[in-house]
Amino acid sequence: MSIRQPIIVVMGHVDHGKTSLLDAIRKTAVTLSEPGAITQSISASHVPIDVVKKICGPAMKLVKTELKIPGLLFVDTPGHEAFTNLRKRGGSIADIAVLVVDVAQGFQPQTLESIEILREYKTPFIIAANKIDLVMGWKSKEGCFIDTVRNQREEVQQALDEKIYEIIGKISEHGFNSERFDRVRDFTKEIAIVPVCARTGEGIPELLILLAGLSQRFLEQQLQTEDGAGKGSILETKYEKGLGTTIDVILYDGVIRKGDVIVLATRKGSLSTKIRGLIVPGPGGELVYVDEVRAASGVKIFAPGLEEALPGSEVYVAKRIEDEDEYKLQLESEIKSILITTEKIGVVLKADTLGSIEAISRLLQTEGIQVRRADVGSITKQELNEASAIRLKDRYSGAILAFNVKVDYETVEEARVKSIPVIQSNIIYSLIERFNEWKVEEKDREKQEAFASIVFPAKIKVLPGMCFRASKPAIFGIEIVVGRIKPAYDLMKDDGTVVGRIKSIQADKQSLQEAGQGKQVAISVDDGTFGKEFGDGDVLYTSVPKKDALLLLEKYKVQLNDEELTVLEKIQRIKFEMGIEA
Ligand code: GDP
Repeated sequence: MSIRQPIIVVMGHVDHGKTSLLDAIRKTAVTLSEPGAITQSISASHVPIDVVKKICGPAMKLVKTELKIPGLLFVDTPGHEAFTNLRKRGGSIADIAVLVVDVAQGFQPQTLESIEILREYKTPFIIAANKIDLVMGWKSKEGCFIDTVRNQREEVQQALDEKIYEIIGKISEHGFNSERFDRVRDFTKEIAIVPVCARTGEGIPELLILLAGLSQRFLEQQLQTEDGAGKGSILETKYEKGLGTTIDVILYDGVIRKGDVIVLATRKGSLSTKIRGLIVPGPGGELVYVDEVRAASGVKIFAPGLEEALPGSEVYVAKRIEDEDEYKLQLESEIKSILITTEKIGVVLKADTLGSIEAISRLLQTEGIQVRRADVGSITKQELNEASAIRLKDRYSGAILAFNVKVDYETVEEARVKSIPVIQSNIIYSLIERFNEWKVEEKDREKQEAFASIVFPAKIKVLPGMCFRASKPAIFGIEIVVGRIKPAYDLMKDDGTVVGRIKSIQADKQSLQEAGQGKQVAISVDDGTFGKEFGDGDVLYTSVPKKDALLLLEKYKVQLNDEELTVLEKIQRIKFEMGIEA
C-alpha cells in the first residue's frame, strides 16, 4: 500500500485564467526542480512534493500534517470537458479541484456551472481568486501572498478584501461557506480562497501547499493505491500518425503494463484489447515508450480497436479472464444507464463524450427536464423523427440538445421543416439556459396562437339595400357598431339564431383579415340566406364560444373597451337564455 498524488482539475469561467494558472504552476515547478526530477506525464503535470516544499518555505506552516503524498498531479486541460471525462462509476476520479475566479469579474455563468458540477460529483475544491494585480494600486510580484500582502497600502488591501467578500457572498448563495485561506478556522467547513496572480506567480505557493495539505489531511484514504491492476479514465481519444487511434488515460489506481489486457467502453459496447504500447513524453517533449506506468499519472495507450473508444469511459486492467468478463458486464450496464433510450416524453440529448452526457443528464435532472434519449455523436434522422413525434404530444419536450457535436446543414434544414428546435452549445450551462429560454419563447408563441384564435365580441348592423348576393355565399354590406370581426367568426341574431360563418371581409376590393369598430365593409357568409334568416337592418353578434369568453374575461380583459365588454355580456346572455352550451 502506498499513497499516490491527488488528481487536480482546474475549473472556472472562460478567460478567468485557468490556462495561465496551470502555466504558472508548471513554470514555478520547473524552475525549482532538480534537473530530471519532474516525471513526465501525458495530459497531466506532476509537481513533486519536494518542489512543493521548496516553493512554499514561509507558507509551510499552513499545514500541520506531515506530507506523505509524493506530489500533485494537475490535469493539463482545464474546464468542464476534462472534468466530466474523468469519470468513474458514481463519481469522479478528480480528487480535488481549483475553481478560478477573476476578481475583477467575479462569478460568471461557468463559475456557477463549475460549482454545480463539483457539487454533483461531490468533489472538494478551493478557490483561486485570480488577477489580483488588477485590484487598484496592487503591486504584484512572485512569491507568497502572505508576504506580498504586507507591502500593499492599507486601502489597497481593503479593496482586495472587498473582492473576496463578494466571492464569499456569491458562493454562500450556493450553500457553501468560504473564507480567505489565512482566515479559515476549519477547512472541513470553509472553502479556502487563495488570492493569486497567474501572471506573476503571486500566491501560487499557498495554492500548492493548501492543495497538498488538504489532500494529505482529508483524502488520505482515497489516495491509497496498491501495485495491483491499473484503473483509469479516458480523457481523450487521439489519432497519432503511424499508430492510429490512441487513448489518453489518467491512471488513478494501480499499475498498467505493456501487454496488459484492458477493458473499456466503446459506442458499440465494451471492448477488451491488449496494450501494444504505453507512451509518455520524454524530457524534450518527444514521445517515448515505457514498460509500465503507476498511479497517479497520465499515459497514452496504443492498442488495436480503439477507434470507437468513448472519452469518459473507465479503463480497467484485467489480469484474469473472469475479471475481464466482470468488467465488461459492469461497463455495459453503465453505458446503458448513460446512453439511454426510453419511451418518456422528453428531450433528445446528443453530446461528444460519455462524460459530458452523464454530467448534462445530471444537471437536466436537477432542472426537472426529462431526457427521452441520450447518445454520443451527431443527430440522426431517427432522432429528428422522434423529436417531431414528441413535439406533437408535448410542444415543450420535442427538442434536441446538442453539446459539442457538429450539426450539418441538412440536419438543420430538416429540423426547421419539422419545426424542431436544435439547441446547440459548447458550454453546458448555456445549453440548458438556451433551452429554458426557448421554452419561454415557445410559451409566448403558444399564447399568441391562442390569442389569435379567440373570437372577439362584436355587434354589427346589416346595411339596408346593400345585398350583392343572397346565398352560397351571401354577400352584403355591414357596419361594425362595436368590436372587431375576422374571417371564420360565426354570426348570430339576438335570439340566438345562427346566421352563418364569415368567409371573407372586403373593403375597396381588398380582402381584409380584420375589420374594426366604425368600419363599413362587405362580408361573405356561408350557410344563411339573405332575406330569409336575416335581412336589411338586422343587428348581428359574433357568436363568442364560452371558452373564449372566459379567456377574454380572465386574461385579456384589458384588450377590450367598455362597449366590447357590454356586448360580450349581451352575447353571453343570449347564449344562456337560448340554452346554447358552447
Ligand atoms: P482561461 O480561458 O480561463 O484558460 O484563461 P487564460 O489563462 O487564457 O487567461 C485569459 C486572459 O487573462 C489572458 O489574456 C491572460 O493573459 C489573462 N490573465 C490570466 N491571469 C492573469 C492575471 O493574473 N492577471 C492579469 N492581469 N491577467 C491575467
